[in-house]
Amino acid sequence: MVAHPDDESFALGALLSGYAAHGVRTAVLCFTRGEASTLNPGGREDLGRVRAQEFSRAARILAVDRAVLLDYPDGRLSAFSLPELTARVRDMIDSWGATRLLAFDAGGVTGHPDHVRATEAALTAAEERGVPVLGWTLPTMVADRLTREFGIPFHGRALSTLDQSTPVDRAAQRRAIACHRSQSADNPVLYRRLELLGDFESVVLLGGTARPSGTSSQDDGHLPEHVAQWPSPVECPRRSRC
Ligand SMILES: [Zn+2]
Repeated sequence: MVAHPDDESFALGALLSGYAAHGVRTAVLCFTRGEASTLNPGGREDLGRVRAQEFSRAARILAVDRAVLLDYPDGRLSAFSLPELTARVRDMIDSWGATRLLAFDAGGVTGHPDHVRATEAALTAAEERGVPVLGWTLPTMVADRLTREFGIPFHGRALSTLDQSTPVDRAAQRRAIACHRSQSADNPVLYRRLELLGDFESVVLLGGTARPSGTSSQDDGHLPEHVAQWPSPVECPRRSRC
């Protein structure tokens, strides 16, 4: 669940490719085409179309099984009612048969209002359907460092509050990032964040902990096994594809 094309790569890319490498089928729902981005060095008027193509290519690199790009206006997600946005997430959960969601942390991580709104919709839909929601987040030390260096109000979490900080292989993520050329060609904040994070990503359990009827105890709202027991990169049996 993301707001903009590139969020699935810049933010969730290492987790998504890691899930796929461990045999988990994944789908991405993106609310906007990112046409309002200020990272548009060429000043192209057709940025939304360009970014849609970048999104599609990046999703393939991340081995995402289904990538859905909606057409809500970039930067104005919060102008739409939560029930409307929630319905789009709910449709995706139902049609895909999703058993858990991955979204940005509740504060949006970068504080972008679209990120916050997308997560609100994810949380509401997940609660309705009784599926857990994992929130991608940053350790406070990384968030604070980025805020100091770039003047952007990143929102992080104290280490003691993280539900999982897991080793990741960033090879596929970096290839997916390269697909988003319009956004990654000149993006020092992104590369500094990856440098500070190293080979780890962190998640928190945001909600949706109710167990839907008829499901196994595996879906009881705790972290999924493949996250809680994520092998270290050196142990990954399919490392060449990670
Ligand atoms: Zn974004």
